Amino acid sequence: LKANPHHQSVVSITPTVAVGADDLLIVGGPCTVENLGQMTTVAQCLVPHGIQALRGGVYKPRTSPYSFQGSGDAGLDILAQIRCHHRVPVVTEVMAIHQIESMLDRVDMLQVGSRNMQNFDLLKALGEIEKPVLLKRGLAATLEEFVMAAEYIVSHGNPGIVLCERGIRSFDNYTRNVLDLGAVVALKQITHLPVIVDPSHAAGKRELVPALAKAAIAAGADGLIVECHPVPDQSISDARQALSLDDMVALVEQLRPIAAAV
Ligand code: PEP
Ligand code: MN
Repeated sequence: LKANPHHQSVVSITPTVAVGADDLLIVGGPCTVENLGQMTTVAQCLVPHGIQALRGGVYKPRTSPYSFQGSGDAGLDILAQIRCHHRVPVVTEVMAIHQIESMLDRVDMLQVGSRNMQNFDLLKALGEIEKPVLLKRGLAATLEEFVMAAEYIVSHGNPGIVLCERGIRSFDNYTRNVLDLGAVVALKQITHLPVIVDPSHAAGKRELVPALAKAAIAAGADGLIVECHPVPDQSISDARQALSLDDMVALVEQLRPIAAAV
């Protein structure tokens, strides 16, 4: 994955949506897929406004085992319907090897969450599929560990990897995590992979998200993955950091001039 001045990887998500080329990749959607109505509203509001892919978790890595764990297979069906009816690629988190098979024909990109960045058996299994992988940085992973996690996937045969900086643990919890924009710059220099930023899990508070998103693009990120919801305060998980759909669309408009200047 070492950087090569003559080669920057472009990862195709569908024949018409890619990341790492000229266009930013903007992924939006709720933390958790709740029901078809919610995801239909999300798709109807976002797809016409330059959001090229939708996100939504169906297997959720919750801190407490008593919190909602995700809608599982029923949620995958919802994503499959949305992707087909709205002609938009969808991304969801895979937590275990046995979930991979059921995702292959229903989603376009599989996300490895922070808590699984060093789940090496999962990474090896994802190396054997022909779908792109969105690999999020571990909660306290060094860049060396992050890049080596990506190497696990590539070395097992899958070159379609997108790195995602989502903030790392530090001493202050006013922000949920510390967004490491230095890591974005460094990863672009030391690897040839596309790098996107998740300002939502870094910020933890919706009022911080737009500024962090803009800063990420100014730092050279290839795209963003942002949590948003039709009724943010009613989000089943991560409500405090969810943008409204209107705020999401407004944010995307503000990114264009920044991207053009980078
Ligand atoms: C998520 O994207 O909803 C998520 C759980 O992210 P992370 O793994 O970065 O905490
Ligand atoms: Mn979340």
